[in-house]
Amino acid sequence: MKHINKIKLKKQELKPASYYFEGIKGGNITILSKAITLLESTKIENHNLAEEIIEMCLPYSGNSLRIGITGVPGVGKSTLIESFGSYLINEQNKKVAVLAIDPSSQKSGGSILGDKTRMNDLSVNNNAFIRPSPSSGALGGVAKATRESIILCEAAGFDVILIETVGVGQSETDVNSMVDFFLLLMLAGAGDELQGIKRGIMEMADVILINKADNEDATKVKLAKQNYKNALHLFPPNSNGWIPKVESCSALNNIGIQKVWDIIIKHHELTTLNGSFHKNRKDQAKFWLNETISDAVKSMFYQNEKIKMLLPKIENDVINGKISPFKAANLLLEEFKK
Ligand code: GDP
Repeated sequence: MKHINKIKLKKQELKPASYYFEGIKGGNITILSKAITLLESTKIENHNLAEEIIEMCLPYSGNSLRIGITGVPGVGKSTLIESFGSYLINEQNKKVAVLAIDPSSQKSGGSILGDKTRMNDLSVNNNAFIRPSPSSGALGGVAKATRESIILCEAAGFDVILIETVGVGQSETDVNSMVDFFLLLMLAGAGDELQGIKRGIMEMADVILINKADNEDATKVKLAKQNYKNALHLFPPNSNGWIPKVESCSALNNIGIQKVWDIIIKHHELTTLNGSFHKNRKDQAKFWLNETISDAVKSMFYQNEKIKMLLPKIENDVINGKISPFKAANLLLEEFKK
């Protein structure tokens, strides 16, 4: 399991969907990994096969806790995933999958996230599965591939899915649309209280966890906690009734890790009881339906031969003020519909 990464697929290696499905259902990590490679593929035939596998796995999915973990580079995400993931496996008897979303990840270079070399214990644990971010070339986008991977991991019996992303941009919205719980990792006393984390990301957090508490004196950590609590108070209350928590931990020294799980369980209990857990999952499914349709329609439009031919000239006319962007768009859409 240690070195299973993005297994290259040769055409003759492709098997029927049922082969992958049976393997995944049996908890075979190598086959799970191959199926994820299929769904990340840029080739349409691989993707069609992946879709068949996803459909077969769907009835066996949904039974995990999906947790998003974000924070700026260096804050300690990998270290936390290592200690938290090990805690879940060793103390809570869980099977943990770690996925990542890094929209900037390059096709060849892999990802800075979900990096198994930084997760030494987890990467050799039979109850863990670590998968770096899909490449930015994945059909339908990086986030969609991760969303689909969740289904396959759940069918393979993973009951906690940790989704790591770097806390600086659009990818958090994507992660938020696929997780049940959102954890934001921060530092105490790193100057600017918000540390480049956008307000929108703070607003999504179910817990703000101040990491590296071992490195700071207690007063500083306490002050940072208070500051974050104050900042959270400025946001409108969550519709699911959850009041975001602020805690501290040391991912490196395994301090405060159990507390994180306790909070996640409390959140799960509350949201299950008041129905918002399942409502959120349904809303997310609807979101992905609409996302996928709009991506596909857009791609159909831009791949259309007539549009490809007309677009450069019409773009030029728009730039030069010969025609308004709206009329130009309508003209192209009319051509597309013909
Ligand atoms: P990421 O980029 O957010 O994934 O951050 P890493 O997990 O790679 O951590 C960045 C650096 O911070 C590494 O050198 C870690 O050893 C260190 N680090 C992570 N967590 C802690 C912590 O709780 N305490 C201290 N003192 N250092 C930590």
